[in-house]
Amino acid sequence: MGAPVSPAAYEALVARLRQAGCVWAEEEARLLVAAGGGPQRLAGLVDRRVAGEPLEYLLGWAEFCGERIDVDPGVFVPRARTALLVSAAARVTGPAASVVELCCGSGAISRVLARRLAAPRLLAAVDVDPAAVACARRNLAAVGAPVFVGDLFDPLPVAWRGRLDLVVANAPYVPTAAMALLPPEARRYESAAALDGGPDGLAVLRRLAAAAPDWLAPGGHLVVEVGQGQVDRFRAVLTEVGLAPSVVRDEASDAIAMLGRYPDDVAGGRYEN
Ligand code: GLN
Repeated sequence: MGAPVSPAAYEALVARLRQAGCVWAEEEARLLVAAGGGPQRLAGLVDRRVAGEPLEYLLGWAEFCGERIDVDPGVFVPRARTALLVSAAARVTGPAASVVELCCGSGAISRVLARRLAAPRLLAAVDVDPAAVACARRNLAAVGAPVFVGDLFDPLPVAWRGRLDLVVANAPYVPTAAMALLPPEARRYESAAALDGGPDGLAVLRRLAAAAPDWLAPGGHLVVEVGQGQVDRFRAVLTEVGLAPSVVRDEASDAIAMLGRYPDDVAGGRYEN
């Protein structure tokens, strides 16, 4: 539990956070106090928060879809809007599915899918950043999901080719020129590689979509998040690689998930030879 803090000290803390621009100052104050460690440590955490460090890095965790997810400094902080991606993925995935999450960051999506999907046969995650992989391994140990280091599908066992029912990813999709417009918490503290999606934001998603048909089982789905203004272009990408596109939006959380379904009637399918 947190160090006891006098009501006056607590009010001063809330005022300081509010002055620094924290919209949820009371909630943040409560969480920082609960993080514990005595007055000196609390003062240190508050100084860092006031200087702009994301609350999640100070606490060491973020809340995502009702789960407490470990986040290490620099590792992408799971966003509330990504709940849409999770529910879209869960809706199209049947029982005993084989599931891989790419660009997994903390592994938050897999951690929630482990709870939402009916007895997945296989659940694994991949990230190119060793710091993210170390973090995801902690988050996914409890659900028994292995985490691989490498670029997209590269580190996966070849035996999984053509067998995945779901490939899910919150890949980086911020256009490089828009990186400067991100909130300072993201821009200054999160790994740029987790956010920067190249000139039009779709550089990683394009490579991911191009490789997905090799790995998806007939009838399987690729499910990703995209930003505003990217839907039409990514729909064309999905169509071009042979995946049937669809879109799900949630205006309230400013979220867009896009799905690409691998047809189950592929002529000359690989199972015939
Ligand atoms: N800034 C975006 C977000 O907060 C970036 C997400 C991404 O690139 N995957 O959701």
